[in-house]
Amino acid sequence: MCGIVGAVAERNIVPILMEGLRRLEYRGYDSAGIAVLNGTEHLKRVRTVGKVKSLQEAIDQSPTHGKLGIAHTRWATHGVPSERNAHPHISDGLAVVHNGIIENFESLRVRLTGLGYTFTSETDTEVIAHLVRHHLNTRPDLLDAVRATCNELIGAYAIAIVSDGEDSRIIVARHGSPLVLGQSERGNY
Ligand code: GLU
Repeated sequence: MCGIVGAVAERNIVPILMEGLRRLEYRGYDSAGIAVLNGTEHLKRVRTVGKVKSLQEAIDQSPTHGKLGIAHTRWATHGVPSERNAHPHISDGLAVVHNGIIENFESLRVRLTGLGYTFTSETDTEVIAHLVRHHLNTRPDLLDAVRATCNELIGAYAIAIVSDGEDSRIIVARHGSPLVLGQSERGNY
């Protein structure tokens, strides 16, 4: 079963994301990844197959920092365990992590491919990223675009989404999957 962590703060949140992933390791997973936003920089994503330790090593080799980000440990349901199937999935500066299964992903994938979106994974999750991106064309607010996307998804999911147009907001949603939100004044990590 996968795990999702998201964090937004006035300081580097990569240690918070990585500690969150370590605490979720007991749930089991095959790969892990993070995506962070750092002010003027674009979205940065790092993904690895295997343990969170491998992800930490990859981050150490490719310095990654930011004040807003999401992270994921994956338990594959659609598509083999591999780096290209690991979360977060991206659509043009927007990243999503997902726990669960999107039952109608095949029809959404056909539609989005017809609209010109290119898929780089075999997951059901990638349709969420492209669908949010698509809805942003007509609804510039990220929350509105995620709401419109969720109206089209069938299945159980918890998702967290960041976009490089939004440097202080993570959008989260769930349907049939658990999700916990918290706030810390001082931070414990
Ligand atoms: N269905 C998604 C995938 O296969 C998410 C799996 C999970 O919950 O980790 O990538």
